[in-house]
Amino acid sequence: MTSSAWESALSQLDEASRIMNLDPGVHDVLRNPKRSLTVAVPIKLDSGLVKVFTGYRVHHNTTRGPSKGGIRYHPAVTLDEVKALAMWMTWKCAIAGIPYGGAKGGVVVDPKALSRDELERLTRRYAAEIGPLIGPERDVPAPDLGTDEQIMGWIMDTYSMIAGHSVPGVVTGKPLSIGGSLGRGEATSRGVMYITEATLKHRGAKVDETRVAIQGYGKVGAPAVRLLTELGCIVVAVSDVNGGVYNPRGLSPTGLEAHRDDTGTVVGFEGGESITNEELLEIPCDVLVPAALEGQITENNAERVKAEVIIEGANGPTTPEADAILEDRGVLVVPDILANSGGVTVSYFEWVQDLQAYFWDEDEVNMKLRRIMERAYVDVLDIAEERKIPTRMAATILGVSRVAEAHVTRGLFP
Ligand code: GLU
Repeated sequence: MTSSAWESALSQLDEASRIMNLDPGVHDVLRNPKRSLTVAVPIKLDSGLVKVFTGYRVHHNTTRGPSKGGIRYHPAVTLDEVKALAMWMTWKCAIAGIPYGGAKGGVVVDPKALSRDELERLTRRYAAEIGPLIGPERDVPAPDLGTDEQIMGWIMDTYSMIAGHSVPGVVTGKPLSIGGSLGRGEATSRGVMYITEATLKHRGAKVDETRVAIQGYGKVGAPAVRLLTELGCIVVAVSDVNGGVYNPRGLSPTGLEAHRDDTGTVVGFEGGESITNEELLEIPCDVLVPAALEGQITENNAERVKAEVIIEGANGPTTPEADAILEDRGVLVVPDILANSGGVTVSYFEWVQDLQAYFWDEDEVNMKLRRIMERAYVDVLDIAEERKIPTRMAATILGVSRVAEAHVTRGLFP
């Protein structure tokens, strides 16, 4: 049976703890999110009727610093999913070596079904409801699936109005005009590109002979098509919720962007043949980048994945059952908590710039991002090679060990 995200996150932690012989008390602390808040979010719809949505904010861990993590607007959001995503943020921040714990938030809503005014009211009320939990020194939200920089702007404004002064450092992924960082918008995709480059180099593969398939054409997938093409790879397939396109000779990033801007989807793009979302995962390619939802590569399709390398742009796209099959088949999985940490890393830069009220140029952001990602890649690979374990386990061990060390150093209160 396919694991839920929370079951996956727990089983990864349990396995890492077993391999590294983690103290059972510390293991127990890390299995339990520090705090989970469920809020009712009532808003007035444009029709005048009142509707109540459910929202969550989970702080998994704050031992290494304020908690950090995105806010997701999606109809399938559950508390368990948010807990899993928060735990993954803890490891992700520790692996990148940035001074944060992990958090995540979510609202059970289809944002596309709301008007812009309704979306603003929902965001402001949710921000007010989780207000006691967030702040530049407590917990710093950011965009995730279904949220964007405008939504971050409304959260910043709501929090600032209640505080009585501007607090740009309360969220990251904001518009530039109110304290956002250059490079944040495409940072996750840029990080995926740096990690792809490092992986290909490590394997002695030629970039210009590397065929890439990308599942998801949103905030991560769309810029990744362009950046990986710029790197020299041949992006042969891409898909969104409606379906996908495939061209073994490569897809044009600008053509795809223009088609998506016109039609709202990559489906029907004349530069390739139509495929389904399921077919994309099994398309002939060298590198597969899942950049959509969790639980996409499972025991039901892992056997048919043709790629030799999977670079996880999404959070939790591969279940533990699929991980085991892929490992047997010799497929390298570069895990989410390493591969997609470019987003939170530039979020960290944004927060630092906000706190200092001193802003950097884009080259500086990208250079510092590259340095952090390449360092994290080497740190994880060293553990994988030394212990002869899969990369996900090595990354989890690195994250858990850094959090555990901080925990032991601080000691247990009271
Ligand atoms: N939502 C992104 C992630 O899952 C970014 C989080 C952040 O920037 O805080 O990593």
